[in-house]
Amino acid sequence: MTAARDWRLPMVEIFQTVEGEGTKAGYPTTFVRVFNCNLRCTWCDTTYSYAPHQPAFYATIGDIAEQVEQYGNRYVCLTGGEPLMHGDKSLALVERLAHIPCVTDLHIETNGAVPIDPFVRLRETDEEAARKVRFVMDWKLPGSGEAERMISGNLALLEAQDELKFVIADEGDFTAACAVLDGHQIAAQPLFSPVWETMPPARLVELLLASGRKEVKLNLQIHKVIWHPEARGV
Ligand code: SF4
Repeated sequence: MTAARDWRLPMVEIFQTVEGEGTKAGYPTTFVRVFNCNLRCTWCDTTYSYAPHQPAFYATIGDIAEQVEQYGNRYVCLTGGEPLMHGDKSLALVERLAHIPCVTDLHIETNGAVPIDPFVRLRETDEEAARKVRFVMDWKLPGSGEAERMISGNLALLEAQDELKFVIADEGDFTAACAVLDGHQIAAQPLFSPVWETMPPARLVELLLASGRKEVKLNLQIHKVIWHPEARGV
């Protein structure tokens, strides 16, 4: 039987840069971008990470971990596409990355349309995963075209160390994001992020302040300020 470290995953890229968003923005971070996604959001900025594009390469879980160890960063972002859509392979990858000694924070960018229960169970049963694994859930709103695919049971599984990101394309999305926050008990840190092309950040700030919501954090993608918005691998 093949050991989990020999399982192969379709990949897009592994590289280091500074984290571009979320509560860890600005820290040197290793990005592990796994190929393929189960959604097709209208405003997606990583369309190269799913079909009809092809994986850039395949890598074993052992090889991925080795490359992450070589970079030696404390922060690791597991992203895609949707990095949790590969079942047991995704679970084994999360477990392996969480056990890399230099890694203190493994944040997983997931899209809300994959049940996170198995990964939560790992966090409950594995000491390293409990300390390091954080979900950054990108909860889809009507402007994405994928709001119907959200699994509401995922929201209750998020904890205080997790982040719940809403990418806001227009004022309808802003209202929808507020409705999600009002309609559920959510422990995670809510982040509101503007769609670069359709929601000027200043307008989003206006809406946020006018709403009186004190718990929400504005989330700007600093890599789009540092580099060209369409630059890859940065
Ligand atoms: S979930 Fe993420 S990667 Fe998938 S289509 Fe939406 S924005 Fe793109």
